[in-house]
Amino acid sequence: MLTSAHRIPWLVRMHYRMRTISFALMFVAYGLHMVEQGQSQPMPWLLLGMAFLVYPHVQFLRARKASDPVATETRNLLVDSVLLGMTAAGMGFPAWITFSGAMGTLSNNAANRGWSGVIQALLALVLGMALWLPIGGLRWAPGTDTLTSSFCMLGLGWYLLAMNNMGFERNRQLSKMRQQLQERETQLLSANKDLQCKLFEIDALQTRLSEQANRDPLTGLYNRRYLGNTLDRELARCQRDGLPLSIILLDIDHFKKVNDSYGHPAGDQVLVHLGHLLMEAARSSDVACRYGGEEFLLLLPTMPLDAAMERAEELRVNFSKAVVTFGEHRILATISLGVAVFPEHARSAEDLIRSADAALYQAKNSGRNQVRAWVPSNSTQATA
Ligand code: GH3
Ligand code: MG
Ligand code: MG
Repeated sequence: MLTSAHRIPWLVRMHYRMRTISFALMFVAYGLHMVEQGQSQPMPWLLLGMAFLVYPHVQFLRARKASDPVATETRNLLVDSVLLGMTAAGMGFPAWITFSGAMGTLSNNAANRGWSGVIQALLALVLGMALWLPIGGLRWAPGTDTLTSSFCMLGLGWYLLAMNNMGFERNRQLSKMRQQLQERETQLLSANKDLQCKLFEIDALQTRLSEQANRDPLTGLYNRRYLGNTLDRELARCQRDGLPLSIILLDIDHFKKVNDSYGHPAGDQVLVHLGHLLMEAARSSDVACRYGGEEFLLLLPTMPLDAAMERAEELRVNFSKAVVTFGEHRILATISLGVAVFPEHARSAEDLIRSADAALYQAKNSGRNQVRAWVPSNSTQATA
């Protein structure tokens, strides 16, 4: 928790300290001068005490209570000058005391507000002197005795040195704070860099996860979930551009037998092999997908029926020729394929798949290991 001393700005605290000490020195200097002049009336002494011993505390309280303590304290510096001007005039301008007071207040204003502060302080000093004239008239008695003059020299010397030393300490504190700020900034920058790396990793992970969510883990082909969105999108695109879109639905013949004869892992190997064939056959715009257990789908945007039939036939031949080795087993299998094309066979994604499925069913029924294109059920099926 902050103490009340810490809530008061540094400038106000520093000025309070310096004003209290330097005004006490001025009190002593004027006091010596008054003793030398044999001044014994209580009123001048009372005024002197008010001006140099009480005044600094009043100014501090004023600055402390102000809504903007620093601005108030900066204005207080000019009030100092007015007061010093009035006292100097009231005392008949004793040279060394006037000079010391003037130098003190001028250097104070210079340190706080530069040359404009010096000019304002000079004007305030003159104003203070002018204010005294209607009260006490013009008096000219610049001489001071050796003791007073020496005290003024020492006091002024101390004041100027103390001011400079304070400036030096303040600079040192500020450069330390600047260094700490720079260290914090470096730490923040490195934390920010770490954070960016983490975000980058999270981004990459997210991409990988969504890629995995769209892929079949066994074959690496796209899954049915991915196909759903893509088929709708590609169909809309081909419809807009007036282009065809073909799909090939294919299924391994008697795959159950493969599993039964060679085991499930061997069956997996056949599925992986067919996956590779489909991937190799796919153009960059095509989508090869594992549609179900041993059922696959090839989405061929912009491809007309005759080209799709050729592609299906190529796949059928390549797969039937391929020997999948699993341990000592050499496995041969065939596929049946059904082909449907937009817009001739169907206009929606569901109808297109349904048509390809019907064509595949026909291929199975016609003895398997063959390609069929969809045709209405009352007409003859097209064969590749
Ligand atoms: P058809 O020619 O009529 O298609 O006969 P089929 O035996 O291929 O068809 P069926 O639907 O009777 O059998 C499909 C088999 O595919 C049954 C199932 O165990 C197998 N299968 C499905 N998914 C996988 C898989 O991921 N790995 C393996 N090894 N077999 C699978
Ligand atoms: Mg099958
Ligand atoms: Mg099947």
